[in-house]
This record gives sequence, structure tokens and C-alpha cells, in this order.
Amino acid sequence: MTMLSRRGLCLVLSAPSGAGKSSVSRALLEREPELRLSVSATTRQPRPGEQEGVHYFFREHAEFQRMIAANELLEHAEVFGRCYGTPRAAVEAALAAGRDVLFDIDWQGHRLLRAALPGDVLGVFLLPPSLAELERRLHGRGQDSAEEIARRMHAAQDEISHYGDFDHVLVNEDFHHTVDRVRAVLHAGRCARARLPWLPGFVGGLLGT
Ligand code: 5GP
Repeated sequence: MTMLSRRGLCLVLSAPSGAGKSSVSRALLEREPELRLSVSATTRQPRPGEQEGVHYFFREHAEFQRMIAANELLEHAEVFGRCYGTPRAAVEAALAAGRDVLFDIDWQGHRLLRAALPGDVLGVFLLPPSLAELERRLHGRGQDSAEEIARRMHAAQDEISHYGDFDHVLVNEDFHHTVDRVRAVLHAGRCARARLPWLPGFVGGLLGT
């Protein structure tokens, strides 16, 4: 690590489905060149338009179990009866190179990631302005069946109940304002004293000690 470089951080953005997480993630990745998305592995089927290696690594159940056994996942959890997990190697390489990693994972993933990478995780939770608005957004997406939407509405309330695990909580009323606030959290996290291992030496130099 060169002088004044820093270890990357893990920015976890969690929210119930329909709270606007995907749009906020996309905007963050466009505006923050040092931020990369962690591409998760999952056993669910791709939705229309989703690409292998871009949105997810789509894997058979047996292959997913092999990845768990080989310790290739930093964390994994079951969501809606499907397995989801974070591949370890890409994240560890990014953090060591001083790049930040964005995670679009649920509350379980956030909790497990914090345990796997103590001190590296900044957790941000997005809340919808109301339950009615959440339902409207889930319908507006037009990707899921009515049955799937009902299931997700129920799951949304369960997800929301875990807001207390997160460092920062934002109500996503206005998209642009939300993106600005998440960026502010990221920028503050980058200069957290604990993330700057060179600081004591640098300050020692300033103090002439
Ligand atoms: P979706 O199937 O809609 O893409 O994602 C369903 C849920 O799984 C979302 O809440 C998403 O955040 C979560 N998820 C996606 N990837 C991971 C992962 O790697 N680990 C965990 N724990 N959750 C994930």
C-alpha cells in the first residue's frame, strides 16, 4: 500500500424489493468511478434481460453447494427459497487494491458480511416512503406475477424490520436526493480514521515526532 492510499470499503445497500435499490445502485456506479458492483451467485433463474456475470452468476444448486464447501463465498443466504451468495475472491482483491465494492444484498447478507469482513462494511438501508408506494413500484416494474408481488410485499415487511442493523437509513422519497445522500455516506466512509492505516505515521511527520 503506497503512502496515502487506503483500503477499499464495502458499501452495502439493502432495501425491500421495490424501494428503488436497483436504480440507486446503477446511479452510484455511474457516478463513482472507484466503486464496483459485487456480482452475486444465485440459483434462481435469470429474468428477461439479465446477463450471466453482469447481474448474477447463475448457478445450479449443486455448483452453489460446491462453492460453499470450497469456501468460495464470503456469505450466502436463502431468499425467496433460492440461494444467493457473494464470491470471495473479487471482493478481497478490490479491497486490497483500494477500490470500494457495492453490494446489493439483503439484511442477512449484510449481517454475515460484517462478520466476515469486520471494519470494512458500511451498511445503508433504503426505506420506501409508504407501503402503498412500495406496492405501486412492484406493480410498475411489470416483471413479476401477482402471486410473486404478494409474496414480495410480505417479504418487504420482514426486510424492513431489520433496519436497525444498518449504519445509515434513508427514506427514498426523491431518487436524486437519495443518490446524493448515499454518495455522501460513501465519501464520509472513505475518510473514516480507522480506514487510513498510514495516518499515524503521516501525522507523526506533521508533528515532527
Ligand atoms: P433478486 O432475486 O430480486 O435479484 O434478489 C432477491 C434478494 O436477494 C434481494 O433482496 C437481494 O438483495 C438479495 N441478494 C442478492 N444477492 C445476494 C447475495 O449475494 N447475498 C445475499 N445474502 N442476498 C443477496
